[in-house]
Amino acid sequence: MDRKAKAVITRETGKPVVVEEITVSGPQRGEITIRLDACGVCHSDLSATNGTIAFPPPLVLGHEGAGTVVEVGEGVTDFALGDSVLSSYINMCGKCRYCSTGRPELCDMAGKTVFTLPDGSVRTHDAQGQPLNVFTGCGVMAEYATLNVGNAVKVDAKGVKPECCALISCGVMTGWGAVVNTAKVRPGSICVVFGTGGVGLNAVQGCAMSGASMIVAVDTNDAKLSIAKSFGATHTFNPASAEDPVKALKKLTAGGADYAFECVGHGTVLAQAFGCLRKGGMAVMVGVTKAGDMTSIRTNSFSMEEKVLTGSNLGGARPREDFPRLIGLYRAGRLKLDELITQRYSIDEAPQAFDDLASGRNARGVIVFNESK
Ligand code: NAD
Ligand code: ZN
Repeated sequence: MDRKAKAVITRETGKPVVVEEITVSGPQRGEITIRLDACGVCHSDLSATNGTIAFPPPLVLGHEGAGTVVEVGEGVTDFALGDSVLSSYINMCGKCRYCSTGRPELCDMAGKTVFTLPDGSVRTHDAQGQPLNVFTGCGVMAEYATLNVGNAVKVDAKGVKPECCALISCGVMTGWGAVVNTAKVRPGSICVVFGTGGVGLNAVQGCAMSGASMIVAVDTNDAKLSIAKSFGATHTFNPASAEDPVKALKKLTAGGADYAFECVGHGTVLAQAFGCLRKGGMAVMVGVTKAGDMTSIRTNSFSMEEKVLTGSNLGGARPREDFPRLIGLYRAGRLKLDELITQRYSIDEAPQAFDDLASGRNARGVIVFNESK
């Protein structure tokens, strides 16, 4: 069935987001419709409004959502009415060479689910009947969303606030996973995390959980640095405080870090992350840059110093395994989620949520939907 839903939309690149009432059509074969309970506001959403991520508008934003299944399409056997679901901005077909070798974060289908559903169509239309694209096949910054099952993960969310669950599906998975799945940080390691926003704070808590002996949080915003301490950072560093941040970080880490994580989205920061490694260290690029962003790296660092440079998409996640695992860690009191949420917004307040993200006012801001709907 068709449902009316308020949705957060980017209509024109570089302009503030707008909240509109749209129509979300019911599920077709292999799809489900969910009613959203909460949706985090990630820097990647902001990047889609300012052209850093160039998805064509009009675009329904949102990929960090938690909701409840309200309608199930033909052929769907893994989801039933009332199931709790997290969106996965990576579509997982389950069949391609990546899915079948345990790397669903690289699924071939995700490349076809960039701003539409996998078949290239959308279930979202505006009041004039015009189609609306959906961020990574999700578009979950809306009261309802129809998803291909490859973009949905069933979880047991009993007793966990929806806004905590929502953050798992991108910010937490991405930061924690970059450390635990991608870098596989070893106990006693020295780690540097560049950018301690919603993603980087989770890299910090991933490092702490992995037993790092030193965790240096690096951010240009001092308020973020003090939050990072409560997530396990042992040291903080504002790059603006030094003429040569790489030199200062090498000194602080007594010769260089074992691991460095770029959670900002700038080639220049990646070069700093790579630069502050010790011999044999590993830098992980997590941030998403503007298309065409480049950086320069001393090539002999590979051959002579055996440094490693790699990337991490959605924290190298196997979402169907890792999302429930993260909920389990939260239930066990080992993963901080409540502390990440520094502001809750209604959907009507979404423009403010984007402003607050752009000006660095939040660890993570979350849109919480009206429970009575
Ligand atoms: P955020 O805005 O919450 O945090 C970014 C932080 O970087 C802020 O605290 C900011 O003060 C800091 N910063 C800015 N310039 C800096 C600099 N030069 N040096 C150090 N710190 C600096 O953003 P977020 O939601 O945490 O996302 C971070 C990045 O990760 C974005 O690029 C986002 O698109 C990307 N991301 C990647 C993935 C992935 O799978 N690889 C998933 C989600 C988000
Ligand atoms: Zn995200």
